[in-house]
Amino acid sequence: MNRALEMRKKIIEDSPTLFESMFPLPQVLHTHNLNFKIKGLTGKAVEVVGLGELRKKDSAMVWKLRVILPLLLLLATAIAETETETETSSEEEEDRIISRFQQYLKINTSQPSPRYYEAAEFVISEGKALSLEWETVEFVAGKPLVLLKWEGGNPDLPSILLYSHTDVVPSEPPKWAHPPFSAHLDSAGRIFARGSQDMKCVGMQYLEALRRLRARNFRPLRTIYLAFSPDEEIGGHDAAEKFAHSDLFRRMNVAIVLDEGLASPGPRYRAFFAERSPWWMVIKAVGAPGHGSKLYDNSAMENLFKSIESITRFRASQLDLIKAGLKAEGDVVSVNMVFLKAGTPSPTGFVMNLQPSEAEAGFDIRVPPTADPESLERRIAEEWAPSSRNMSFYLGQFKQKTPVHDKSGKPLLTKTDGSNAWWGLFENAVQKAGGKLGKPEVFPAATDSRYFRQLGLPAIGFSPMANTPVLLHDHNEVMEKRKVKTLIVLRID
Ligand SMILES: [Zn+2]
Repeated sequence: MNRALEMRKKIIEDSPTLFESMFPLPQVLHTHNLNFKIKGLTGKAVEVVGLGELRKKDSAMVWKLRVILPLLLLLATAIAETETETETSSEEEEDRIISRFQQYLKINTSQPSPRYYEAAEFVISEGKALSLEWETVEFVAGKPLVLLKWEGGNPDLPSILLYSHTDVVPSEPPKWAHPPFSAHLDSAGRIFARGSQDMKCVGMQYLEALRRLRARNFRPLRTIYLAFSPDEEIGGHDAAEKFAHSDLFRRMNVAIVLDEGLASPGPRYRAFFAERSPWWMVIKAVGAPGHGSKLYDNSAMENLFKSIESITRFRASQLDLIKAGLKAEGDVVSVNMVFLKAGTPSPTGFVMNLQPSEAEAGFDIRVPPTADPESLERRIAEEWAPSSRNMSFYLGQFKQKTPVHDKSGKPLLTKTDGSNAWWGLFENAVQKAGGKLGKPEVFPAATDSRYFRQLGLPAIGFSPMANTPVLLHDHNEVMEKRKVKTLIVLRID
């Protein structure tokens, strides 16, 4: 192996963090020795001149590599030297980590009345303790988004955004073993709290990772931003959506977003490269009203039920694909009926001898980025809600319809092949930390990542919880104390 390749390998082996690992390494062309001076530090390094995939996308990157790689080598050396000091994490330190996590969990940020300012105050105090720059932005009054910033050695490089949401879904406290905002730590080491998985754990991991890096006097090359955003659980329209389209976001020059994923009941971590787009559809059938005893064609109820039958058949076909193991949950079009509205109300319930003139049903449809949205729309117009059957639905009538393609018309997904240097580096960082990644998945529900992917940015959903039951939105959402530690280790080492 020539010297250059050895050095490159060393960079990979020594780069102990996700952030460093995220730095795209070029294909090495040639090397020579060089003396350098950085912030009063002088030393020798091997200059590695590289050329990689990034050249195609970002020509400015190529000349910067000359300076950047020696800097990384220097960092690698510095880290190796201090390894023994920083690696000994005492029990006391672990307790402090858990107690900070509990403090965040105890803030009741549950929809529909989240205590956003308390959460913002907590995040800002954590940011200050880490000497990070901070600012609060309210795209809508009362909904603060906290942005922490760690400026990189080269702020001209596109930045890394570590994204999390501060709000949580409501809970039913009587059904919990311990109150959902008690952050109770039981004797088995489990922390009970709404948000322990979704996703205050991830927000805290970002902070703890930065704390460890700070302690090592690490300085990232790229600027790292941490966003703690409100309103994800109610669609993100007043937060992530406006944030993604803001001048502030444009100025941040984001290259890659890390956001939430899901726990994994097995040993492999799950990472998500796309998500299904929600289409919320209400269809309404109309027909002549009539006596409850009369059989006639085209009653509203009959028309609606023909639609429901057709939708139910489609639903079963998609479910069969999952049951047969042919497709994963995120890869099929799901459709579920969420309400039925019909009947003529009476003081005691409904009029029983009258067939109503209107009947309505609502459906939550989730469309994967690999589906053909036009053929689905045709199916809706021709089979599910045809005007020939007195269905008043028309295609523009969705309650919500998230596009399946990004602004340039490409499917809304983050590439997980060689064309995306970030993915390779992410995979490498997880492996380096001793973790194993499962096959990248399509997130079955919606997250704020869609707003970033819609801009054409890569976004990876990653909540590193292996061997953990998926308890988000469930009663007794818990996180094991030892897992919290594992996760932080994963982020850092
Ligand atoms: Zn979430």
